[in-house]
Amino acid sequence: MADFLVLGGGFGGLAAAHELRRRLPRGDRVTVVAMSDRFFVGFAKLWDLAGSRPLADGTRMLERLEERGIRFVHAEVTSIDAATCSVQTTAGPISADGMVVALGAGYWPGHRELIEAGAYNLYHAPSLPDIHTALNDLTDGRLLVSIMGTPYLCPPAPYEATLLLEDRLRSAGLRDRVDIAISTPAPLTLPVAGPDASRFLAEELTAAGVGVFTEHTVGSIDPDRRTVTFQNSRTLDFELLLAIPAAVPPPVIHASTLAGPSGWIEPDRRTFATSAERVYAVGDCTLIHTATAQLPKAGVFAEAAGKIAATNLVADVYGGDRLTFDGYGYCFLELPGQRVATVAGDFYATPRPDVRLSPPDRASFSAKQEWEEERLNSLLG
Ligand SMILES: Cc1cc2nc3c(=O)[nH]c(=O)nc-3n(C[C@H](O)[C@H](O)[C@H](O)COP(=O)(O)OP(=O)(O)OC[C@H]3O[C@@H](n4cnc5c(N)ncnc54)[C@H](O)[C@@H]3O)c2cc1C
Repeated sequence: MADFLVLGGGFGGLAAAHELRRRLPRGDRVTVVAMSDRFFVGFAKLWDLAGSRPLADGTRMLERLEERGIRFVHAEVTSIDAATCSVQTTAGPISADGMVVALGAGYWPGHRELIEAGAYNLYHAPSLPDIHTALNDLTDGRLLVSIMGTPYLCPPAPYEATLLLEDRLRSAGLRDRVDIAISTPAPLTLPVAGPDASRFLAEELTAAGVGVFTEHTVGSIDPDRRTVTFQNSRTLDFELLLAIPAAVPPPVIHASTLAGPSGWIEPDRRTFATSAERVYAVGDCTLIHTATAQLPKAGVFAEAAGKIAATNLVADVYGGDRLTFDGYGYCFLELPGQRVATVAGDFYATPRPDVRLSPPDRASFSAKQEWEEERLNSLLG
């Protein structure tokens, strides 16, 4: 009997665990270790925020893995020894014959401190009830959404959130009294998707009366005066500040030999193999270069990578099929009125990613709903 370990119960980890289970002999053991006991699709937070569906309705418990022949250990991984394929966890040590690391990303501590001073982390699920209270109390002034640094998870999500909140405030009859703006350190709204998608998004924001401040990096937040001062010296006041911190590698990865020069794991971008034998890494805890930038930190890529890594790990141990990632992926871009645009294409193309924007429609919104339902059912149904 062989033992296979998956670190993380998010998109990458669940995709890898199921692919391992599907390909391995019944007698082999697949274990998922995660410190969160539940899973939801990232964009479900936006539906909660917009008031269209509570996050709980799109949440599934990881203990359901047990019914699918996958052992679930609810614990924190405190150290990783890639050379011996073993980890220390708060539930004790675990060793394996092969491992897929899918521990996601954390938030940059400097941004966490700034946010604690007077804002809300838009991406932090436990903050959603407080954000709802703040939104319900918002009757005038400015709602400011600030992308604080890069990389950050799911590049379109802050813009989607802004447009969905614009719609929520408009429906509440507050739009003539509440100004809305979004800031980003980047020169375009969506550099990873290219100038066309960025222009499209900027036009949608402008048409909705949202101020767009590109090349604006937050320098400080004054919670008493309710102002943000950017590094270019511009100051904006706010009544409610929703911030998106930059992503950083989880400390346990940073402290391991798996971390590359960037602090992230930098696996082979086609096979997801790391420098350690029979150890693969996928999803947000990795840094993968494209011709012009980095692969976006998104669930679709984590999922694709998880399946490929698991397949290759099984081939390392038993022989058989190997897979490589072709760089193809897509991102949903949700707009008010149940419309979704799609940015899709080859992110590994040279000399630059070859990605195209499909105009928004309601059929794509239905496809997005089905996409979530299909994942929840197949991963934890
Ligand atoms: C608001 C929002 C909207 C989004 N919309 C989309 C979208 O439309 N499309 C899309 O593709 N992506 C979207 N994303 C991004 C997507 O959610 C992430 O890219 C995806 O979840 C990454 O998967 P992952 O498996 O790499 O990491 P995660 O899903 O973050 O999973 C990490 C796992 O590791 C566990 N973990 C972390 N550290 C430890 C530790 N030390 N010990 C034990 N366990 C640990 C966690 O508990 C978790 O189970 C969105 C994200 C947000 C925030």
